[in-house]
Amino acid sequence: MTLDLSALDLYALDRDGLVELMTELGEPAYRAGQVASWLVRGVDDPMRMTDLPAALRERLAESTEGSTPELVAHHVADGGRTHKFLLRFRDGEAIETVLMRYPRRATVCISTQAGCAMGCPFCATGQAGLRRQLTAGEIVRQVVVAQQALATGRIGDVELGPAGLEGGGPDHVTNVVYMGMGEPLANLDATIASVRWLHDPEGFGLSARSITVSTVGLVPAVSRLADLGLPLTLAVSLHAATDRLRDELVPINRVHPLVELEDAVQTYRARTGRRVTIEWCLIGDVNDDVVQADALARLARRMRAHVNVIPMNPTPGVRWKEPTRERTDAFVARVEQAGATITLRDTRGRDTEAACGQLLAARTLGDGNMLPVARGAAERVDALVSGGSAT
Ligand code: SAH
Ligand code: SF4
Repeated sequence: MTLDLSALDLYALDRDGLVELMTELGEPAYRAGQVASWLVRGVDDPMRMTDLPAALRERLAESTEGSTPELVAHHVADGGRTHKFLLRFRDGEAIETVLMRYPRRATVCISTQAGCAMGCPFCATGQAGLRRQLTAGEIVRQVVVAQQALATGRIGDVELGPAGLEGGGPDHVTNVVYMGMGEPLANLDATIASVRWLHDPEGFGLSARSITVSTVGLVPAVSRLADLGLPLTLAVSLHAATDRLRDELVPINRVHPLVELEDAVQTYRARTGRRVTIEWCLIGDVNDDVVQADALARLARRMRAHVNVIPMNPTPGVRWKEPTRERTDAFVARVEQAGATITLRDTRGRDTEAACGQLLAARTLGDGNMLPVARGAAERVDALVSGGSAT
């Protein structure tokens, strides 16, 4: 590897990479360990790495200039318990990160790509396509931003405040969910490298269990993740339990149909000993009927997976909505009666466009326009559903 010393991103290097960097800079190898010990504590500004010689600090500061993202928007919801950040990187690409504070947990929802190539028609991020991959550094930095906010009690000019949480809740990040913009397994190397930083016991120190990677089901990548031997929590975005409907709602299903996905999940569970989670974005009159509920329950039982139901957040330009409360409750009850475990999730941040991808979508697209990706799929799904053939 040749290092570009004019645009360095320290988090994009692993520990070996840091050693190589020190060698190139004519520094002893142990300096790499010193730098790493700051990075894992969330300090990415070389000028704050006080045990390094001043000249090295300055050299690193020059080389890494611009790698810290700029906070371009900040929305607060749920009385200060949910904070959504729009972060812009040096090339102008912006992504979203959400910090959710609970009494005993502080969860950060992070993005892995600017945009997404998977084209799920109900998802705001999916509408604009893939803009670019994030580097491992850009993924980790989102956690750093949240960590610094929790440690200092403020972000930019905004105080986090107690937000009705006893003692203000944790002062550090306890959980990370890869559920922001993008498909983590379509950016697998950077995702894995970022997991390694977050898992580092000397730093962020997150247990593998408190890290959740969410995927639409890129089957070969699920196997690679299982090979890591880390018991990460795997969330599979299912949304449909029959291939006919899933082909439309989650287009990657045409490449990796349910039977393959089920197999990958079984293997993941066997290798890691971890129970997999199924995510189900509940869309009114699309995937909230008894046929889907029964098929979901059968699949969840076979996979021994827990189902999380998330009522669909409104997405700019998409006319589907969450079902009525009655239909939602009936769906959950039906799955439960069929013997699967299921939880109806709270929809954090509803009041500020906080579903991932929506802050950016709202800024760039404006409301009301049906986007091309959504249009074709929505028409096909509506035809399937009204023809009673979604099964
Ligand atoms: N690409 C990955 C991870 C990011 S999406 C994946 O799809 O799993 C994170 C979660 O948000 C997914 O479960 C996704 O289906 C869900 N989601 C996307 N758009 C949504 C919407 N409009 N309402 C509710 N959930 C949505
Ligand atoms: Fe991409 Fe996930 Fe959105 Fe699908 S739901 S378009 S995979 S971010």
